[in-house]
Amino acid sequence: MRSLDEAINAGQSGADGGRWVIRGGRLLSADAEPVVVDLVIDGERVAAVEPAGTADAGPVFDAAGLDIAPGAIDLHVHLRDPGQTHKETVETGTAAAAAGGTTLVCDMPSTQPQVTTVDRYVAKRDAWTGRAAVDYALWAGGTDPDQLRGMAAAGAVGVKIYMATSPGFDQLYSPDDTAVRRVLRVSAELGWAVSVHAGDQAASDAHRAELIRAGRRTPADVLAVTRGPGNLAGLRSVLTAATDLRQPVHLAHLSAYGTAALDEFVRARAEFPRLTAESCFPALSEEEDLPRLGVYALPTVFSAAARDRFVDAIADGTIDAIATDHAPHTRDEKDPGRHDAWAAPPGYPALETSLPLAYDALLAGRLDPRRFVDALAGAPARILGLARKGRIAPGCDADLVLLDPAGSWRVDESTMHSLVGWSPLHGRELRGRLVATYLRGRSIARGGDIMYPGGGQFVRRSTGRAVAAGGPGSTEKVPGAAERRSS
Ligand SMILES: [Zn+2]
Repeated sequence: MRSLDEAINAGQSGADGGRWVIRGGRLLSADAEPVVVDLVIDGERVAAVEPAGTADAGPVFDAAGLDIAPGAIDLHVHLRDPGQTHKETVETGTAAAAAGGTTLVCDMPSTQPQVTTVDRYVAKRDAWTGRAAVDYALWAGGTDPDQLRGMAAAGAVGVKIYMATSPGFDQLYSPDDTAVRRVLRVSAELGWAVSVHAGDQAASDAHRAELIRAGRRTPADVLAVTRGPGNLAGLRSVLTAATDLRQPVHLAHLSAYGTAALDEFVRARAEFPRLTAESCFPALSEEEDLPRLGVYALPTVFSAAARDRFVDAIADGTIDAIATDHAPHTRDEKDPGRHDAWAAPPGYPALETSLPLAYDALLAGRLDPRRFVDALAGAPARILGLARKGRIAPGCDADLVLLDPAGSWRVDESTMHSLVGWSPLHGRELRGRLVATYLRGRSIARGGDIMYPGGGQFVRRSTGRAVAAGGPGSTEKVPGAAERRSS
């Protein structure tokens, strides 16, 4: 039997087409207790899961003592490419993903130009070809029904609705309930995912103006608006619209809005169970991190009580998915917020630490292995309609991570891959260690090093209603060569 190092160093590759075995690792899955198995990989796919010590199809690599889990799927990232590549690029953002155990990212339409038309969607999709270290899907943005149909035909997994706006998001803005419901009705026909940034722009603007008039400009003041009555009103209104129209919506960054938003969501889901929500894995505390980091900790930072609520909600499945809202900004952009918190854009890089934070919680006994897998991979795959992603089973893509439960590591921003070069978790000690990340059978990262940049592929929905290519607003008749369907 060969060492796992040999497999990783060889870049053990699906492209080589052979069968090989990861022997004796503990498989974590969403629907069964952890069990020590042999995992048989054939090319890009999982071929079989067999009792430990029994598989010998091709080279056998020793994973004794390690956990095996599906690679994470991040529903919510901002890789800033095209348009703001001083903050992040396809290459750097997906390297951060691979190094952190995320094998598929779903990028938001707030790149520049904003992705509100079929032409812009296709241009962005094609511009990413051959550059990503992990697989990727792309959200559509905008409100024009014909453009939405065309973007679905071009491969969009779903649409992002912005009920609030800010510089760079103006064209994505759905200003009222009528506009939101129009997108929901089209989405009901398309059968794709709907992610919502909930808000009420006028109410939040008024709240902010009132605080500024009173001379208030600390990070806590910014948080008061983020968690304020405007965003809660917006949240209630979209939950009502979704329930009225029986169109599932997925709530983006629920944790940013605080525990009152969680209460609203729980109430709405009792009436309409197809609603879903995401949260980052809570990491930053108001008591310790906020005073030290200031605006670098915005917008998602938790009081001790809120942290417990959100971790519990992830652990018991109330919150379906862990998603980062990876939103890198440079230090030059953040620093003006040291004196005036309104002057800094909210957001921080989080891709490289997302799965490691959840694994730390698993090892601490705060997160059950089943929920670890489902929140990071299973639920996102279901929401995006990716049948062959998000689980380790015969026929699925061999997207997986190997984790050492006996290891540990210290977050070090100087070695991380996001272009901005900082992390709010710098210095944090975490239990467990990510040993290697595999994408479709190929070793793409180990110990923070990227083994195979550029191998990520564009992924479309494979479940839900079929969307005919060449529909209204579509400019293309033939799928691009780099595309693939996930089934
Ligand atoms: Zn976002």
